[in-house]
Amino acid sequence: MAPPTLLRVALIAFVVIWLFGPDVLRSTVPVWLAFVVALGLELQFFVGALRSSPRPRPDRRPQPVDRARFGYAEEPAELLLVREQGEEIWVPYSGENDEELDELIAAERERPDWEPSAPEADDLLPPALRRLLVGIAVIGGLALLLWFVDRNTGWDSLSDETRAAATQRFSREGSRIAGKPVTIRCDEAGSRVGAVQHSDGVAIVGGTVAYLAPERCLDLYRLTFKGEITSSRTARALAVLAHESWHLRGSRNEGTTECFALQSAVNLGRSFGLSADTARQMMRQQLTENQLHARGSSDYLVPPDCKDGGPLDLDPDSSRFP
Ligand SMILES: [Zn+2]
Repeated sequence: MAPPTLLRVALIAFVVIWLFGPDVLRSTVPVWLAFVVALGLELQFFVGALRSSPRPRPDRRPQPVDRARFGYAEEPAELLLVREQGEEIWVPYSGENDEELDELIAAERERPDWEPSAPEADDLLPPALRRLLVGIAVIGGLALLLWFVDRNTGWDSLSDETRAAATQRFSREGSRIAGKPVTIRCDEAGSRVGAVQHSDGVAIVGGTVAYLAPERCLDLYRLTFKGEITSSRTARALAVLAHESWHLRGSRNEGTTECFALQSAVNLGRSFGLSADTARQMMRQQLTENQLHARGSSDYLVPPDCKDGGPLDLDPDSSRFP
């Protein structure tokens, strides 16, 4: 397969797997990254093709297709190109004088199927540009597919009433953690949190309103209203809601806030319908993952004190952590 074809097949495969494959891919790799890479490679192929292959000069003699159309012999003795009134006519010529030649030209004109040859559609665009346009069309089509699927399966696809009921529920649980009435909103417009900023939620320390990314809201909604658990994404969504609620309560340091959040999220998961064991298991997993990568930033790394019996243990009497 040629590299551009290979690239397109790979991009299509990636998008399909991203949409319908394991959740871990969706929650770790932003899909727009694949589009940026694909677009860059298409442009690189285009520039490479422009540099390496100057357009061949067109062969002005009759082509095999012309011979077939005009009925010339496969290898005529000689063909004469006659220009008249801006038209070009090929005339079989074997030493005729001027008058005979005029007759030959007239005969060529009379041929019923004679027409000035129109350029083939393929010749309108250089091949490299045509390939680039095909590539951009494939990328655009996939982006449209993603948009369509997201519209019909994402947080935005839920009715206004459902979303209002869900955020009310999130706010109630958030208020319990914050120790005061707070409002949890889902940032549908993507102006505060979302894929671009690569942030799951945002809250002002000590404030009363927090915003969650729509993906997190959807996972919380699925758990609370449908009883659906989506691998580690459900755990992440619970931890994010608890994390932002702790910010509203007044916790400023990110590591400490995350440590409190992973502990509070156990009860949060239980009130959203998880068993105590599952909720605990999920948050232990989150704690392990935090210590492994701290979500790309050491600011979010929970401090070493975040352990059973440590100063950040919210329930020092219990031997379980979180
Ligand atoms: Zn935070």
